[in-house]
Amino acid sequence: MMYPGLNLRVGEVSSYSSKGKHTTVTSLLQKTGSDTFVIDTPGIREIDPYGIREEDLGHYFAEFVPFLEHCRFNTCTHRHEPGCYVRRAVDDNKILKERYQSYLNLLRTIEEDMNF
Ligand SMILES: [Zn+2]
Repeated sequence: MMYPGLNLRVGEVSSYSSKGKHTTVTSLLQKTGSDTFVIDTPGIREIDPYGIREEDLGHYFAEFVPFLEHCRFNTCTHRHEPGCYVRRAVDDNKILKERYQSYLNLLRTIEEDMNF
């Protein structure tokens, strides 16, 4: 079952990044478990480097969005940057640690993919 907020959020993200790859991006993230996403790896290679950038990934996590807008840097990847509101929200239990961990895993996938 898809997370109800995800489709709407992906749509918003698509217009946000305006890369003209809406269909591919929408099918990229699939919810397979309660808090598990799989990434369509061939799909991400197809759109790389014009698909998801590291600093855009947070926009695909609907509950991150209210916080990431307040990060000090708009290129924040929410790992180690100073002034990161997403990490602060995780510390304050406003974002589930499991979701943040999923985010970090996806971020690593994107990084590894960029080495191709
Ligand atoms: Zn951040």
